[in-house]
Amino acid sequence: MTSYKIDRIEIIPTQIKLHEPFVISKGALTHARNTVIKIYNADGTYGVGECCPYRSIHGETQTGTVAFARDLAAALIGSDPREIHRHVALMDKMIVGNASVKCAFDMALYDLVSKLAGLPLYKFLQGDRAKKIYTDNTVSLLDKDKMAEKAVKFKEMGFPVLKVKLGERGFKKDVARMEAIRTAVGPDLPLRIDANQGWNYLDAKMALHAMKDLNLEHCEEPVQAGNTTDQARLTAESPIPVMADESVFSPRDAMTIVTGKAAHLFNIKLGKSGGICNSMKIAAIAQAADMYCQVGSFSESRLGITALVHFDMVWDHIIYHDLDSPLMLSEDPVTGGLKYSADWEVTVDDTPGHGADFDPAFLKRFEIIEVGD
Ligand SMILES: [Mg+2]
Repeated sequence: MTSYKIDRIEIIPTQIKLHEPFVISKGALTHARNTVIKIYNADGTYGVGECCPYRSIHGETQTGTVAFARDLAAALIGSDPREIHRHVALMDKMIVGNASVKCAFDMALYDLVSKLAGLPLYKFLQGDRAKKIYTDNTVSLLDKDKMAEKAVKFKEMGFPVLKVKLGERGFKKDVARMEAIRTAVGPDLPLRIDANQGWNYLDAKMALHAMKDLNLEHCEEPVQAGNTTDQARLTAESPIPVMADESVFSPRDAMTIVTGKAAHLFNIKLGKSGGICNSMKIAAIAQAADMYCQVGSFSESRLGITALVHFDMVWDHIIYHDLDSPLMLSEDPVTGGLKYSADWEVTVDDTPGHGADFDPAFLKRFEIIEVGD
């Protein structure tokens, strides 16, 4: 009989160079410094999770995730891995915020427990594979000609939708960027934009009205996260749907946005909510409020995004999919897991768990910190 006991946890801080710097209104990223968590059950079965801390969004760094991971690992050793809600509550009790590191543990637990149950993660979460999921690709915030050039390249690569990073104060250059991109890609390719909190209320209002005829799906996080007053008046006035991203980390945040009418849409990321457990609650809040959602990424490898795709398959009202972060990495250290088709459909198979793992040769390049009995 299988015994259910976490007897060992590995913490592995990794690093992968990006093909080119990823630039948003908050700065440029050149390397994905993701922390990997492997949680072992007593029978040798293990689950794998990863997190990608963004200091400008989470307030977390890789060094911080490793320090907290040691504490979280010590607290989980000896417990039954199947008690995921209890483990998530414990992590939230032990450490305020730090959603990124908690996400890596949550992801590893869901992988492990669905493996132990012999189910692919989407089935473990009571989802199905009927849903068609296609990813966008993201254009970094650069000068408008470079952005238009990149957008055309992505269109030629067959991406069915593009996401464009904006958020420069003063907004006029952003409008010029979007006009140049729309002209370059033609009238029909769906485009979505993300200001990453870069505008103030007036910038956002002027920008969104100036771009109303550019056929844009939605705008992520136009103004400062937490500024519910300006978010709410912008949501009421904007001709383009407003999506809350950095404003929604926790289920509590989701309630604040819903009750404050501060967005039309949510962007759910496992790395913001502390993993699948809390993301399920956010998705349920959005469903109850009759809101559509997007799922999104930081700079996760194919492993983190594979877990996200399983989660995506549970919810019909998640209709936007921003699953491009693995494409930005200069190497793919992951075996198994999601596949991208030529037309950028994203699929997973029926391997138990999320179905992805890190190549042991990749992990051996880094320090492996072991916490055990
Ligand atoms: Mg965003």
